[in-house]
Amino acid sequence: MTENATVCSHQTSMGDTPLHRLEKALGPYEKKLQKQEAFRRRLGVKEVDQPTYLRYITGDIERFEKERMAFLCMRPDNPHGKELRRKFKARTGHDHYLTPLPYEELDIEDRFGRSLADAAYRACCEYDPEPFPVTPEAGRVEVSNSAWMSRLIKKMGLLFGAEMVRIAKLDQRWIYKDVDIGHKYAIVAVVQHKPSLIDLAPSYFSWSSSADVYSRLKLITTQLTDFIRGLGYDAMYRETRGGGEPELNMVPIALDAGVGEFCRTGRVLSPEYGNNMRLKAVTTDLPLLPDKPIDFGTHDFCMACESCAKYCPSGAVPKGEPSDDIPNPVHNNPGFRKWWINAEKCIIFWGMNKRKWPSCGGRCIAVCPWNKPMNRFHNTVRWLAVHAPHFIKKLLVWGDEFAYKREKQINR
Ligand code: SF4
Ligand code: SF4
Repeated sequence: MTENATVCSHQTSMGDTPLHRLEKALGPYEKKLQKQEAFRRRLGVKEVDQPTYLRYITGDIERFEKERMAFLCMRPDNPHGKELRRKFKARTGHDHYLTPLPYEELDIEDRFGRSLADAAYRACCEYDPEPFPVTPEAGRVEVSNSAWMSRLIKKMGLLFGAEMVRIAKLDQRWIYKDVDIGHKYAIVAVVQHKPSLIDLAPSYFSWSSSADVYSRLKLITTQLTDFIRGLGYDAMYRETRGGGEPELNMVPIALDAGVGEFCRTGRVLSPEYGNNMRLKAVTTDLPLLPDKPIDFGTHDFCMACESCAKYCPSGAVPKGEPSDDIPNPVHNNPGFRKWWINAEKCIIFWGMNKRKWPSCGGRCIAVCPWNKPMNRFHNTVRWLAVHAPHFIKKLLVWGDEFAYKREKQINR
């Protein structure tokens, strides 16, 4: 083993070591991590051994065929999507939600919105770099302290621009069928949408925020991939968007990593950002220490709140209790009793007003009471949302609707 190869194994703290300068430089990101941990402790977020989504699993889980994803079903040659494409065309008059109208058919505000969204999305769609080669074994950094390495990876993720980084042991069930990933861990990067833009959903502006976050996540995860490969371990950034060639189902992976809990919108709801965020992963064989899943009572809060269901313009988000009734068996696997999103209703809505928006851009995100700034007032409300009895939770939801004067936008 070379001298360099042994260096990392002893770095557990700052001291007179070859890495103390790097540790010092990453000090602001260490502070950010500590702040995030302190916030979760104050809120009463529990780290648990088993993810709380187990309550929604009722049978064997099979790996999902990505070709059955509603997004991929919109491709003209997809054999699972004939019915969806027929309904889409009949309801919207268009072949695809992403086929743009000419700019001259848009009013002036939407020309700005469309320009913003297209500019924001391009990096995510067109930036697919070949990662650096993995450093050969002779130059590899040996890792004897996986906790230290995990902390370093999180700080690197924050340095590259993520707002949160968590680590999960990669569960093969959450890799799409026929996709082969042998790595042991998934590093999950989280970036929040701009709340002021997402609040305008559905519109080009809210979509531009999603598009911008996709592009940022692509850059962050490619940088993390290259960094890990430089250390001598295999790593790869993974596609998760339905618009690409998805490899991982990000929701359960982020739940395993403790980013948040499963919520009514079918997304991950985190204590910090609600469901107003997007997620992307790097998988790797770098020795890491996975984070634990978390529990802060999301199921109970979603049982007291139906804002996403009430304000979803297409009626794709269910009200009431989790259910066994799968709305679109083509686009979902059985084995769950959960809140099922009706993917067909959601996607068809995206094509309904192409003059105004290319996708809904997440009205179900915009109206969620958890998507509030991290300040003293809202953190106090967050604490109540976690700890208060059911009727107070309902009162909080009522207060949120009253304060934000939400309008229903029905196109069902
Ligand atoms: S993205 Fe829009 S249409 Fe789809 S579930 Fe959310 S609010 Fe409903
Ligand atoms: S809007 Fe309400 S019900 Fe929907 S995810 Fe947010 S908290 Fe849960």
